[in-house]
Amino acid sequence: MKIFDISWPISPTMTQYKDKKSVTIQKIEKDPYALEHLIQLSTHTGTHIDAPLHFLPDGAAIDQLPPDALIGPCIVVDMTQVTDMIRIENLKNLSPLAKNTIILFKTRNSSRAWDASFDYKFVFLAADAAQWLVQQEIKGIGIDYLGIEREQPAHETHITFFKANIPILEGLRLAHIKPGNYFLCALGLKLVGLEAAPARAILFGE
Ligand SMILES: [Zn+2]
Repeated sequence: MKIFDISWPISPTMTQYKDKKSVTIQKIEKDPYALEHLIQLSTHTGTHIDAPLHFLPDGAAIDQLPPDALIGPCIVVDMTQVTDMIRIENLKNLSPLAKNTIILFKTRNSSRAWDASFDYKFVFLAADAAQWLVQQEIKGIGIDYLGIEREQPAHETHITFFKANIPILEGLRLAHIKPGNYFLCALGLKLVGLEAAPARAILFGE
């Protein structure tokens, strides 16, 4: 069994959402033999988990999700042929899907460098596809960009998952991952009462 790191490297030069400069790293000057830094990050930096509170005022915060919310059997689905958005018709060959599966979409987003400028035309998941996945009783969802939807002003994709209490894992790096079955382990920082948290995500597989 192998372990694959699917996390986005964190650095001030990394790709950031809409190119906002929200990552700063500063060395704390004190005892020169005790290296220490002060970091400032958005909660949505790089690989991160969105909790329902992100769009639902009464939704669960990141520290209220169970620790295994994004730990479990997982399928990396090849969507590299999709140029714009993943629609319900792109998902039909996933059926039948075992309950409680975590679905990760590998798209052309993963072929961009980790420090490239923000791609405003990133491949995203349309709301009809989100609805279908909720009906399949998936446990979690992930995508290889810093957002799971764009140009949907009512945020239907996020809200569809959050109403079903399904967390969203954004900012994955999947270029080196073959589509197929894995076991995912993604753990967000335990930030009290917040809507999201940076995470380290790894896959166990062959
Ligand atoms: Zn987010």
